[in-house]
Amino acid sequence: MFILNKENSIANHFLAELREVDIQKDRYRFRRNLERLAELLAYEISKTFYYEQKTISTPLETTSVNLLSQFPVIISILRAGIPFHQGFLNVFDHADSGFVGAYRSNIQENDEFDIFMGYKAAPDLKGKVVILADPMLATGKSVVKVADTIKENGLPEKIIIASAIAAPEALLFLENNMSLPFEVYTAAVDEKLNDKAYIVPGLGDAGDLSFGSKLTS
Ligand code: URA
Repeated sequence: MFILNKENSIANHFLAELREVDIQKDRYRFRRNLERLAELLAYEISKTFYYEQKTISTPLETTSVNLLSQFPVIISILRAGIPFHQGFLNVFDHADSGFVGAYRSNIQENDEFDIFMGYKAAPDLKGKVVILADPMLATGKSVVKVADTIKENGLPEKIIIASAIAAPEALLFLENNMSLPFEVYTAAVDEKLNDKAYIVPGLGDAGDLSFGSKLTS
């Protein structure tokens, strides 16, 4: 597992601004900070990919460079995943994208809930490296469900689960329930989930902070 804030870097500022209750009210800044974390994670992830030597021409000469032999496919869970997704696309600008709708439904009095899966649009994934971008990796249940549904589009070589903040509960759940090989890249691992399955200390609801509150939860 890769944890970006294990080492001090400018990422600490982006994370702090996402969490800080007064700064996070600025929606533009909130979305941009999610993008910026995704850009940094994309850079780290890019170090693990295969490269091949290519010849390119400058105005003066030809020279050889190492370029990605395959771009990843970026798949995000709507709607909180949108700004995070954009950050990955800013870096992997030739990547294909996929989107899946998944949300908490049937929330019971004891705060148990199901994950309702809706819209899905994803390319052929056979043999591809998939970056599954979920900014708030809380329970891990949506990610497991999404991984199970995208398998219908062909078996990826590997899934990289990327998040801004992960809860230890999600990491354990993934370990026990993911049906495909995976790695986790996250900017931070927080303390725990609260009884509503929100990450603590976390940042609140990433979807609402990015786009405004919704009528149904
Ligand atoms: N989704 C969020 O937006 N925040 C959490 O803390 C957990 C899930």
